[in-house]
Amino acid sequence: MTFLLLNANLHTLDPQRPHATALAVRDGKILAVGTDDEIRAHTSTHPHTETIDLGGKTILPGLIDSHLHFAWYALGLQAVEAETPTLEACLARVAAKAKATLAGSWITGYGWNQNVWAAFPSAADLDRAAPAHPVFLRAKSGHAGWANSLALKMAGITAETRPPPGGDIQKDSQGEPTGILLEDAMDLVERLIPDKTPAEIAEAMRPAMENAWRVGLTGIHDFDGRKCFGALQMLKERGQLGLRVVKQIRVAYLDYAVGLGLRSGFGDDWLRVGNVKVFLDGALGPQTASMIEPYDGQPDNYGIVVTDKEALYEYATKAAAHGLAMTVHAIGDKANHDLLDVYETIRGEESGRGDSGGRPLRHRCEHVQLLHAQDYHRLGQLKATASMQPIHATSDMLMSDRYWGKRGAGAYAWRTQLNAGAVLAFGSDAPVESFNPFWGIHAAVTRRRADGSPGPEGWYPEQRLTVDEAVRGYTLGAAYAGYMEGRVGSLSPGKLADLVVIDRDIYTCAPMEIKDTVVLGTMIEGEWKYRAF
Ligand SMILES: [Zn+2]
Repeated sequence: MTFLLLNANLHTLDPQRPHATALAVRDGKILAVGTDDEIRAHTSTHPHTETIDLGGKTILPGLIDSHLHFAWYALGLQAVEAETPTLEACLARVAAKAKATLAGSWITGYGWNQNVWAAFPSAADLDRAAPAHPVFLRAKSGHAGWANSLALKMAGITAETRPPPGGDIQKDSQGEPTGILLEDAMDLVERLIPDKTPAEIAEAMRPAMENAWRVGLTGIHDFDGRKCFGALQMLKERGQLGLRVVKQIRVAYLDYAVGLGLRSGFGDDWLRVGNVKVFLDGALGPQTASMIEPYDGQPDNYGIVVTDKEALYEYATKAAAHGLAMTVHAIGDKANHDLLDVYETIRGEESGRGDSGGRPLRHRCEHVQLLHAQDYHRLGQLKATASMQPIHATSDMLMSDRYWGKRGAGAYAWRTQLNAGAVLAFGSDAPVESFNPFWGIHAAVTRRRADGSPGPEGWYPEQRLTVDEAVRGYTLGAAYAGYMEGRVGSLSPGKLADLVVIDRDIYTCAPMEIKDTVVLGTMIEGEWKYRAF
């Protein structure tokens, strides 16, 4: 089956022909790219051709998010979004969820704030909305949980129950539990909530995939655990996996992966094995990222080390020797420095073995949030991929100014990395941030938030990218990081027909308008997964 897209504005990212107006698709692959006349002539021998006139609309290659947590995101869609201006609004959401949920099944959620509601809510409040379901909603602070009477009963929490160490059970003037559990007392209820099975996660992923298509995503690199992998395989078995997924492996399973003989890149166009994931340090927000010099204003705080350099080396040398590449979370400049030292050693070992006929391992640095000036050039030199989340820069810029001060010149420094020869692979870390790739492209190009702050130039404006460079991070760069650059990432003859139709030309519109881009169509392997034009 062949069809033609004509009268379009194609940004192909193919150096052979970066711009074109027409594209022919046959059997899920791109047959040809060119002018309308060229494409018509090229396909005149295929009489059953459908022709779609795009009316000048802009088309990009399908967009790929290089770092997200798809099971976490998908299950989050099922939870009650409890961050509401009033208690009643939250209860209305709980009641709606109860209506759509089998009686007796747990209802969970997150986000309420007693400061916004002027008082702590109670179990009796929740009972009005959902008497027949156990309900437990975590506060936005993460330090308190709110249970209904059924959940309290199932947990055996009564007036007599003593709080566990490190926790408290809030009680009213009669000494009865109110439904509010603090800190470690939350575990009394949370341990009763059954973990989701892979089949349940797979079900939750179906609406999640639709949301992804709606913002133009055709592929993702997932960082969740083995149940997520099971869920993805179930969807694939049923022919329902509608995103191309590269699945990272947690380091806890390194020995199993080695034992099984898995290599990075194994799989097919829908589901592939990626790299081995390790955490080196914490994060900027809680000031736990591992630092060479202490945090500004905290002379004793160098952050925390989750995995030290020696342990990382042990993982990496073992993985690399067996054809598994690494993907390592590193936020602070010390974590990144140690990571690059380990990669330098590993690259030496790889070249020493003349590496075994396979392709070079595509080691990655996740986040590359802060580099010391002496390390700026090293990702490029070591051919390590910089997996960065542009939206983090604008979300975190005030914290970076506050805790890292002048060191922020090396923070979220994608221009520096690109100039030094590193491949950029962009993503969102969803659900930490929205996975809308146009928000990411906007952040990469403007270094400004949606509200325009911190001003017209943006935060460290010398780090701004061109639109084309930013789009590359979501296409060719991400495809490379996922061992798929020969299959996707550009609109080139022979590649899979993954593309997105958008309502404006982001290459020419005002940069602040990129974030408002509306996706009109998302095609994967020649099939419209989403079409609204
Ligand atoms: Zn993550």
